Amino acid sequence: MRHLIKFLVLAILLFAAPAWAESTSAVVLMYHRFGEAKYPTTNTTLAQLDAHIAYLRQNTFNVVPLSDIVQALKDRKPLTPKTIAITIDDAYKSVFTEAFPRFKKAGFPFTVFVATEAVDKKYTDIMTWDDLRTLKAAGVSLEGHSHAHPHAPALSTDEVAQDLETMKARFKAELNIAPALYAHPYGEAGRADLEIVRKAGFDAAFGQNSGPVYAEGDMFLLPRFALNEHYGAMDRFQLVVNTKPLRAVDVQPSDPVLRDAKPVLTFTVHEPPGDLLGLSCFGPRGERLNTSANKVAVTVTPTTPFPTGRARVNCTIKVQNQWYWFGQEFLAGGMTEGVRVHPRYLK
Ligand SMILES: [Zn+2]
Repeated sequence: MRHLIKFLVLAILLFAAPAWAESTSAVVLMYHRFGEAKYPTTNTTLAQLDAHIAYLRQNTFNVVPLSDIVQALKDRKPLTPKTIAITIDDAYKSVFTEAFPRFKKAGFPFTVFVATEAVDKKYTDIMTWDDLRTLKAAGVSLEGHSHAHPHAPALSTDEVAQDLETMKARFKAELNIAPALYAHPYGEAGRADLEIVRKAGFDAAFGQNSGPVYAEGDMFLLPRFALNEHYGAMDRFQLVVNTKPLRAVDVQPSDPVLRDAKPVLTFTVHEPPGDLLGLSCFGPRGERLNTSANKVAVTVTPTTPFPTGRARVNCTIKVQNQWYWFGQEFLAGGMTEGVRVHPRYLK
């Protein structure tokens, strides 16, 4: 009898394969600073951080090393529902003083994306190489975030490649680490930059576009949900950690550096959660974009040109009380933060 039950359980698990396949997704969180009220757009208050940790613990989220998620995406292996990873960009000192002790106490692994030049320059609000060695010894993952934190689309391809090589050399010399994961500074990267990162030997790279990661997505422009004082309140935190991916594939325009300030965005939804009639897409000013869905094919048309610089588009749909989300970051108008994109992107 016991064998029969075991067999039945196994059979149910095997035949439930599509449901498991659907769970090949996860939420990756992105933090910057902690308890540094002077910088509200990159800061998370300590009260917010404590509330985030308490929520993840109380609701039995599966907080795993980022590399586990990347490996599962590459292998298209199932991930347990409610799997999340924590990432922190730029290696601010408050990671060491505030986040590290809290995540350690909670037993949560996390990844710091380090821009190496700022560490070399010994800025007082950035961790030292000794701090980073302490994190490494404690099992914290340290990964790549460039050397000079450039706007990659503003550089030549040689300059982008050289910056990555300098970063890798500094990681090797100071930490004896060969980083395998990368976070694009500002989430900015043209199609050619994604390829440079891949050729530099990285397994995957993350942007700053919102949404859960999913196996069919671009492994060199993986999304993360940004958290800061404005976006760190518990209602939004609960929403993002419980969100599932809208599995967009064949996204056009395929180059995030736009030639056209009013691009028609198209994509196909793999394994759609429903008929997509309730899909809403929003532009960089939070404006609703004209969105039409023909079964799995989605067309999104801006009503006004995107503003110059980073332009994020977010598409969401709620099906049976479950939110699904796809986000993409573009660079419009040939400029970002007063810096002109390189002529290679204007051809
Ligand atoms: Zn950064």
